[in-house]
Amino acid sequence: MSDCIFCKIAKGEIPSRKAYEDDRILAFYDLDPQAPVHILLIPKTHIAGADELTEENSGVVAHIFCVASRLARELGLENGYRIVNNCGADGGQSVRHLHFHLLGGRSMAWPPG
Ligand code: 5GP
Ligand code: ZN
Repeated sequence: MSDCIFCKIAKGEIPSRKAYEDDRILAFYDLDPQAPVHILLIPKTHIAGADELTEENSGVVAHIFCVASRLARELGLENGYRIVNNCGADGGQSVRHLHFHLLGGRSMAWPPG
């Protein structure tokens, strides 16, 4: 997707502060952090959102969760953390490239607003 901001970040065309990278995914720090630790994890291939996941393309989600868990451990979030996916307009998704927020370093409210 040529006009997708997260595809551009995945390709290095837009700079980001990286937390982890491999051939399938990128984890980078959110520009507008909502917690002391706020990292976005994305697949490098364009999937618009959770509503576009299929049996064929969803394997990367398991990998993202494993890396998120490892990053949380490495960043000292032993008290817990939250992994969030916003999907579509009502879900509050502002960037239509599948991403998971890893939030930690403070206590989280439930239910979310
Ligand atoms: P959403 O609202 O779609 O779930 O989350 C999108 C997130 O991407 C927001 O938390 C926003 O701060 C972050 N974001 C948007 N543009 C950029 C960018 O260019 N760089 C980084 N690092 N984060 C971004
Ligand atoms: Zn994209």
